[in-house]
Amino acid sequence: MIFRGRTFDGKKLIENAEFKVSEETGIIEYVEETRNSTRMANGKELSDKDVTFLPGLIDTHIHFFGTGNHSLNDWVLTDKVIVTIRSVEDSKNLLNAGFTTVRTMGDKVSIAMSKAERMNLLYGPRIISAGFSLAETGGNDDPRNFDLDFAQKISYSYYCDSPWECRRAVRMNLRDGAESIKAYSSTSFAGGGQIKNQLTLEELSAIADESHKGLVKAASHAYGESAISNSVLAGFDSVEHGLGLTEKLAEEMKKRGTFYVPTMSTYVRSKNSGNSTKDAIIKRHLEKEVQLASDDKIKIAVGTDFVGSSDDPHGTNYKEIALISSVTGPEVALQSGTSIAAECIGLKNVGSIFKGYQADVIAVKGNPMTNIDVIGPDNVLFVMKGGKIQKNRLLKK
Ligand SMILES: [Zn+2]
Repeated sequence: MIFRGRTFDGKKLIENAEFKVSEETGIIEYVEETRNSTRMANGKELSDKDVTFLPGLIDTHIHFFGTGNHSLNDWVLTDKVIVTIRSVEDSKNLLNAGFTTVRTMGDKVSIAMSKAERMNLLYGPRIISAGFSLAETGGNDDPRNFDLDFAQKISYSYYCDSPWECRRAVRMNLRDGAESIKAYSSTSFAGGGQIKNQLTLEELSAIADESHKGLVKAASHAYGESAISNSVLAGFDSVEHGLGLTEKLAEEMKKRGTFYVPTMSTYVRSKNSGNSTKDAIIKRHLEKEVQLASDDKIKIAVGTDFVGSSDDPHGTNYKEIALISSVTGPEVALQSGTSIAAECIGLKNVGSIFKGYQADVIAVKGNPMTNIDVIGPDNVLFVMKGGKIQKNRLLKK
């Protein structure tokens, strides 16, 4: 299956490239620049010439909460079957929008959905699931209005209160089939916009170590300078949210190769809360910190923190790429949503249109290097995942 035309290969734009996907293996056999200007997809000539091929997009931080809202009580109490049914629809929208891989960062259904996708029972992206998140008792997302035993029973987090409980929680997740680990090194904005550290450096170090022993990446939810510092020192692979990034922390992250997942799109939604402390922290994050990360050449990965709510529905996740692009420009932002995102979640041979890589290929109308918004869902004309066509508005039969 030959493809030919304008191609962003995961690193850079090639004005006219040709690549071939093996029908048997779904692997990209070669990629080369060409002078042949006949544009093709899947071996057929395209009538529309203004098309760009890209690697399938990747969102490294989502949740399948399947409730349509931002209510913690609903997230923990809604029946798992209903959550799954809504999340099946979310998966469909993600794949149709060009997202061929996502990583979930704490929920109750994504391990099973990940297995279903691999069994070809689910139309959706490849799912790298973190299973349950890890948090301290009484910590982030613990519905404290309930009795503790009941709260633990309905939670999508394991509550752990020592390095060994943390290690056990990682092991339970891995036993269930998790392929990544997520821990809370801080609260989010507690009442009054306050931020508090969660889990100790010793506990966080145990989580990162146990994750790496299990050959999976560890991601840390971190709000505030000291939580970011703890996460980086503990050896986490990525800092999620990362509000409070400083020059010194950025240097340390660069040295260690720690990824930064600023989840800008979720803060754009909540930036005018009316709470002045919170709003100031968000403003600094959106206006200064991502710029700092970009200037210091930290690897920024796309993660929306979308949960399947009606105000930020799955399928509109390209917004994060557009927001990163407003800081870094389109080339780096597209890397952040393809090759860098793949590296962040530990996937080899995914996220680039390179020889030997899985053929996750999308086609959009227009050129994202001149207008990043063309990667929005309505413009995604073609989606191929692992060499199999998933959506096709490009080729007329
Ligand atoms: Zn999240």
